[in-house]
Amino acid sequence: MKAKIGIVICGMENNRQFVTNSYIRAVHKAGGLPILLPMVRSDTVISDYTTLCDGFLFCGGNDVTPLLFGEEPRKGIGETDITLDIFQIRLMKAVLKSKKPLLAICRGMQVLNIACGGSIYHDLSEVPDAINHMQTSTTRKDVSHRVAFEPGSRLHRLFGDFAYTNSFHHQAINIPGEDIVVTGKTGDDIIEAIEIPTLSFAVGVQWHPESMLQKNGKMWQLFHAFLLAVRAY
Ligand code: MN
Repeated sequence: MKAKIGIVICGMENNRQFVTNSYIRAVHKAGGLPILLPMVRSDTVISDYTTLCDGFLFCGGNDVTPLLFGEEPRKGIGETDITLDIFQIRLMKAVLKSKKPLLAICRGMQVLNIACGGSIYHDLSEVPDAINHMQTSTTRKDVSHRVAFEPGSRLHRLFGDFAYTNSFHHQAINIPGEDIVVTGKTGDDIIEAIEIPTLSFAVGVQWHPESMLQKNGKMWQLFHAFLLAVRAY
């Protein structure tokens, strides 16, 4: 059987739980067996999820409730869902404890950081010199800015000194959590990639590689490296 990749639900819409199709396609095309993990309020189910799956993909979505990283909401915060936030943070902590490989995209990267005790900016207007990270191109495939990678990091090995990426976020990591190493930044010093080097594969990226796969072959490398780590685990 193919490696089972748990894709954590992105959010709720009209009482339905959903995962955006591009994540499912990316996992499938990279050779994994995509399994959607719906939101539940049960420690037993969360524990079963971590046993069942070989690797985990945390996706993009809305904002995270600031109380969950010890802050009260500031101007510019977007829509939140505390039930979803708590579920994802609990599952993230269980995945980290299991040491199984994980890839965290956009909001997923912020959930990873918060699960490790870090914090995020509520809105990038809090960073005076930040460029526009909510790109306005007609398609999500288009590149928007350059991300420079830290020499010696996994992402540097995958992409080299830098990569051009898309950008669809109005939040970003503020204080990195415990064990989190910042491995990619834009020119305005915004954190775009993080890793936990002590785990076999724990990578977070702020951009959306799953939307860039048709136009940018390099982005496949991220999913292939993830699947490789899952099979090797
Ligand atoms: Mn960005």
